[in-house]
Amino acid sequence: MKHSPGIILTQLATLPIVDEVVVAAPERGEVLVQVQASGICHTDLSYMRDARTTPVLLGHEGAGVVAAVGEGVSHVQPGDHVVINWQAKCQRCRHCVAGRQDLCEAVQGTAGPRVTWRGQPLPVMLNAGTFCQYVVVPAGGAVPIRRDMPFEKAALLGCAVATGVGAALYTAAVAPGDTVVILGAGGVGLNVVQGARLAHAGSIIVIDLDAAKLELAQRYGATHVLPGDDAAVAAVQRLTAGRGADHVFEVVGLPELMLRGIDMLARGGTLTLVGAAARTATLPFAPRRFMSQQQTIRGCIYGNIRPERDLPLFADWYMAGTLLLDELHTVTVALDEVPELFNTPHIPRGIRPVVRL
Ligand SMILES: [Zn+2]
Ligand SMILES: [Zn+2]
Repeated sequence: MKHSPGIILTQLATLPIVDEVVVAAPERGEVLVQVQASGICHTDLSYMRDARTTPVLLGHEGAGVVAAVGEGVSHVQPGDHVVINWQAKCQRCRHCVAGRQDLCEAVQGTAGPRVTWRGQPLPVMLNAGTFCQYVVVPAGGAVPIRRDMPFEKAALLGCAVATGVGAALYTAAVAPGDTVVILGAGGVGLNVVQGARLAHAGSIIVIDLDAAKLELAQRYGATHVLPGDDAAVAAVQRLTAGRGADHVFEVVGLPELMLRGIDMLARGGTLTLVGAAARTATLPFAPRRFMSQQQTIRGCIYGNIRPERDLPLFADWYMAGTLLLDELHTVTVALDEVPELFNTPHIPRGIRPVVRL
């Protein structure tokens, strides 16, 4: 049993609170991780709008040290450094056995509730709940990485990097020379940018309202940056000699941006939806040219990565200097500062504030 403060969203449309929770020991097939750092992802904030259940312990982008393992866990031992993978696969459903773990029908949580708040079981966000000093995850939720990567950077591997770099490398499989447009240059968007760079894309065109983010996008691999205005579609057409983009990534979750992205597609082009739209959002578009120009709209969850293979690989890339993260994470906060950060957009927070636990 561990006692720790945690960040709890008690109901929709309110700010989360800091309160003590109790975390139980790991059971068979589970791992207890002492969380060292946890990034604040847009999805944490979006829970204030549309969490499926409240109360809920927030946080899902974390890294830490294994504190204890349950029976039957052999891939990690206490002291190992791990990244939290909030997409632990069942390895048993028809998709998993066919090698498509990214389509797993039964993403794993713990076998029962492991966190208690005010005497009641407390659900955790995305089978994680990393805004807490301890988290119990299913074995696949703790992915070991090298020990020399700083925890504040390693945390980002667990969501922003997995989703963004994975979207470019695996979901969309950007090929050398492809023309890529990224709509939205936040923590995930900038990782799509560097994923496209790592895939040796040709033109990498980044569109955002924020000039500072566009500057960073150039550091991360953008070949062209554009302000997010009505002229963006025409600008993309001009930059691609009228052909349009092979890949457009929407990384904000706004239907109007998705529609703009559709208008930017080349023949055979793919719009990849990375941003989480509101659960009620709908998209009105003309399907005819999707038939005649063989275009595709596809969804992307967690960048279609294979966490056991890719999270350690991303750690190696960061340590080798090929994956950039230092510019994303410039602000570190304490756990009790998190509710304030959710409330006050004017606080300087960098692209990805990280909670140090
Ligand atoms: Zn996230
Ligand atoms: Zn499965």
